[in-house]
Amino acid sequence: AAKAAGKKTFRVFSPDLEKRLHERVRLEAKLRQALGAMDGLFLFYQPIIDIATGHTTAREALIRWHHGARGWIPPSEFIPMAEDSGLIDQLGIWVLGQACREAATWTDGARVAVNVSAKQLGKGVLAHHVLEALVSSGLEPGRLEIEVTESALLSNELDCLSDLRRVRDLGVRVALDDFGTGFSSLAHLRSFPFDKIKIDGSFVRDAVHRADCAAIVGVLADLGNRLGVTTVAEGVETQAHLDLVTAEGCTEVQGYLLGRPVPSPADAEAVARLNARPSADGKAKAS
Ligand code: C2E
Ligand code: MG
Ligand code: MG
Ligand code: MG
Repeated sequence: AAKAAGKKTFRVFSPDLEKRLHERVRLEAKLRQALGAMDGLFLFYQPIIDIATGHTTAREALIRWHHGARGWIPPSEFIPMAEDSGLIDQLGIWVLGQACREAATWTDGARVAVNVSAKQLGKGVLAHHVLEALVSSGLEPGRLEIEVTESALLSNELDCLSDLRRVRDLGVRVALDDFGTGFSSLAHLRSFPFDKIKIDGSFVRDAVHRADCAAIVGVLADLGNRLGVTTVAEGVETQAHLDLVTAEGCTEVQGYLLGRPVPSPADAEAVARLNARPSADGKAKAS
């Protein structure tokens, strides 16, 4: 703790902050260990469905981490930590490899969509890692899709775009994720030929009781249709959501109504065993 000298002394390390820092260091060490031992990390897959045909065109790979004592930790908590600590590079390589390996066993030919963090972009290595994952799994490039958010393009934009261009030159598709939540600059759509726009679930969920949000969904769907780009409505939880995004012109949907993220058949048993185990803080099952 800071010395209680003058009245103006600023206590940088409150006991609470100290505790949180300590917890974070431990969590980071635990993630590093999980990555090293390939223990407790899984990819779940959620279907993305073409509204017109009802077919699953792709499945999004969503990472899940089971921390022995704390149970399942959501990606919103550990991905930022992995980004700050540099672990994201190793994690990203594992996700790409695992997703391609598993997708290569799917018999319906659906694509696999892999999320790529801002920190994996702009370093000149993404296309290399993508190619490595494709070659070692034997997955056709056309069956892989990379998802990036707009915020990933904010810093170092030229280097990020050149990485994405090299990925796309391999024949891999590139999707703009969570569209509408960032700066939603149309310049991004001009500077890169995205294959798909994913409309953030928050718009979809608000659209059923807010005309302005419904209008935004409709305009984004029109934009995608005019650009010849697939538009996916994320976060479709109810029939009312589905009806609305269909009426507004979205071409594909993803959400709990159509299918929750589930482990691959190879991991189903291990995940069920972890779900059955009581965790210290009583956290819910992974989904
Ligand atoms: P995202 O890429 O936008 O993924 C969609 C999120 O929405 C997922 O959360 C998914 O489980 C959730 N979701 C799907 N359908 C519904 C629905 O109907 N209602 C609601 N409320 N949510 C729905 P999740 O799995 O917790 O992942 C959160 C974020 O973490 C992802 O957002 C993505 O940005 C990041 N993430 C997940 N896996 C990876 C990964 O392997 N690498 C990287 N870099 N980021 C990842
Ligand atoms: Mg995504
Ligand atoms: Mg999204
Ligand atoms: Mg998101």
